[in-house]
Amino acid sequence: MTFQDFHFDTKLQEGLESMGYAKPTPIQEQAIPVILQNKDVIACAQTGTGKTAAYILPVLHKIINTDHRHLNTLIIAPTRELAQQIDQQIEGFAYFTGVSSIPVYGGGDGATWDQQRKALDHGADIVIATPGRLIALLAGGTVKLEHLKHLILDEADRMLDMGFYEDIVRIINYLPKERQTLLFSATMPPNIRKLANKILNQPVEINISIAKPAEGILQQAYLVYDVNKVTLIKKLLTSGNFTTVIIFASTKESVKKLDQTLLKAGLPVKAFHSDLEQTEREDILRAFKSKQISIIIGTDVLSRGIDVEGISLVVNFDVPPDPEDYVHRVGRTARAATTGTAITFINDKDQRKFYSIENMIGSTIPKLPFPEGEGEAPLYEPESRPKKSFDKKRSPQKGGNRSGGFKRRN
Ligand code: AMP
Repeated sequence: MTFQDFHFDTKLQEGLESMGYAKPTPIQEQAIPVILQNKDVIACAQTGTGKTAAYILPVLHKIINTDHRHLNTLIIAPTRELAQQIDQQIEGFAYFTGVSSIPVYGGGDGATWDQQRKALDHGADIVIATPGRLIALLAGGTVKLEHLKHLILDEADRMLDMGFYEDIVRIINYLPKERQTLLFSATMPPNIRKLANKILNQPVEINISIAKPAEGILQQAYLVYDVNKVTLIKKLLTSGNFTTVIIFASTKESVKKLDQTLLKAGLPVKAFHSDLEQTEREDILRAFKSKQISIIIGTDVLSRGIDVEGISLVVNFDVPPDPEDYVHRVGRTARAATTGTAITFINDKDQRKFYSIENMIGSTIPKLPFPEGEGEAPLYEPESRPKKSFDKKRSPQKGGNRSGGFKRRN
């Protein structure tokens, strides 16, 4: 399936292409057609699955095709960070469409409050709000919701955990009865079901469950700066604890570089990447399966499909680009109910990515500092690290520099 299959408005399609999205994720494949048919949706999907675009894209398509423009869509999110993030994604997709959005959240000073009120006075198609601030704006009459067509609750379980149930119910009372409601939540505890029964109308249920690593895998991580990664990998490989090892690196350039470094150190490694001929790749895999080669370094090309028994260690030299890749990579060990170890190297920059992997697989992986003891190892503080999306594509940044081949059209 491609994005073309949804027949989005061409201006929206342009925004989508400029964001570098090529293929819909599973939640997008399932949710977009249903949302385009104006049905209510209750979707169980975590951050990282592409859930934001799953609801933004069809809603933008519908707004573009609306004649009379009023406040059309309200998105309620638990935190200001999420509200800002959603707003940035909307701005990227809507870049060529003329559709506007405003994030409103609490926590700022009086100036922020004034700014938000003024922006609302000018009107917008989409408002992204945290519950508390929205209630205040509704009470003051600043936001008028009588023409609202879409209500979206994002990370609904988190909002309920934060005690927003009553606020959400109060907000709903301001909305027209006839509307489309979309509820996204990472989990489906009973209080979410209760809320869903109250506010959704015959919703279509979508469940994107992420595979989890097998029980037999011992998962560990090292907090390590890039400069110390080679020392650490050499230490693991020479420990004598592991017989057959796969090392994953994110790009073929880093695979080749690590291959050279470890060969120089006298370690019997073999690189596996997409620049090799098919026959060379097959030879390497055969030699690996028959244990003539004991250490292989590869990109994610290696993580899918290959079935080699008895791999005792998988190392993620870098944190994998997304949680699914993590599950695939570590799944190379402990196949068929055996046991194995999976170790991930986390530098200071990849902590948020690792944190979202932990969230998706639903477990916290033990972390050791390297070098151990008093040396210079990063602290694990993912939530204070800058957010990076798992994709490396260009995305138009709100209010930022829009160069890099991405030109505004008026
Ligand atoms: P979300 O689950 O909405 O938080 O999305 C997680 C990340 O996936 C964001 O950085 C999005 O930009 C990215 N993303 C969402 N959908 C796609 C897609 N179809 N192709 C590539 N990246 C995507």
